[in-house]
Amino acid sequence: MTYPGNHQVCTRCVMDDTAADISFDAEGVCNYCGEFLKRLDHYVDPDPAARQGKLEALVAKVKEQGRGKPYDCIIGVSGGVDSSYTLVRAKQLGLRPLAVHMDSGWNAEVAANNIANLVRGLGVDLYTHVIEWPEIRGLMEAMFAADVRDVEVLYDNALAGVVYGQAAKYGLHYILAGSNMATEGMRMPGEWTWHKLDKRNIVGISKQFGGPKLKTFPAIGTIKYAKHILIDRAHWIAFLDFIDYRKDAAIEELQRDYGYKPYAYKHYESVFTRFWQGYMLPRKFGYDKRKPHLATLVMTGEMTRAEALQKITEIAYPSQRELDADKTYFLKKMGWSEAKLEDYLNRPEVRHDAYPSEAALWERLLGLYRRLNLKVGRLR
Ligand SMILES: [Zn+2]
Repeated sequence: MTYPGNHQVCTRCVMDDTAADISFDAEGVCNYCGEFLKRLDHYVDPDPAARQGKLEALVAKVKEQGRGKPYDCIIGVSGGVDSSYTLVRAKQLGLRPLAVHMDSGWNAEVAANNIANLVRGLGVDLYTHVIEWPEIRGLMEAMFAADVRDVEVLYDNALAGVVYGQAAKYGLHYILAGSNMATEGMRMPGEWTWHKLDKRNIVGISKQFGGPKLKTFPAIGTIKYAKHILIDRAHWIAFLDFIDYRKDAAIEELQRDYGYKPYAYKHYESVFTRFWQGYMLPRKFGYDKRKPHLATLVMTGEMTRAEALQKITEIAYPSQRELDADKTYFLKKMGWSEAKLEDYLNRPEVRHDAYPSEAALWERLLGLYRRLNLKVGRLR
């Protein structure tokens, strides 16, 4: 799928000027890959011995604070390779994780199978939070009607709510996440997403467009998040940065030992996420989230720049047939006609903060927090 307009593309990675805050130096190299290299140095210790030392220190701390409790850490699992491998390594290191999964009604069957095989094979307890379908569907309808750009706020907010909630329930300080620099280190352009803890936005949009009241949706707002970080001392750890994480090797191990089935692209274990990122988001807003992902792989040497550029010109699906199948699935599940989808895709964006929002509160608290020189837990 190609999109209209001539874009200036970075000469080193594959980011382009669909990111509003991109800038290029005299050689045409962009600020995104420049920042990425700096962050990579900061987060991932290039010395294997030093990294091993940090891993051992982390494992010791997790075990220590978990003593006497039924678990010592929380690991959110989606059925994707990153979170699956986090669970495997944590268990190999002698940790006692509680696996936590959020079911928003859109899980690909392969994701559910992956999770079931994994927790059975590892002997790990699984807590699944199910959001009732009429409720999540109503919230999604409201988000679509509002024409805001980050419908995935619903998923990310609920996941944070469930994971921090379970950590608080068991008095655990450590949430080990499958986030890592090696495969997703390049930041998303700010204008492609929205503040994920904006509960007021979710509630306000639902109210304005006739959506449901929150019942089974485990929303988390700025204040509750601050309580988890400051009072419960919950830490979100990008666990895979502590080990030598190679995606190919991880997939091989998962397939061999846990009957794992991989998918074509990152974060595509949900049918909605796949259809949203692969079709709706680029069509309606012109944002292709594959760009930062592929740019990261180029920068870490896992893919050549030519390969990445080629992928970006193709549809975000293994084939047109699979795209059509997801479209049919989406329409049927939401009860939409083709015409309704086309109308949605053709309407212009309305900013999230045209509706009630706590993004400004978040920014103020974050500013205060940084002035107090505290470390901020990273969300995803
Ligand atoms: Zn670049």
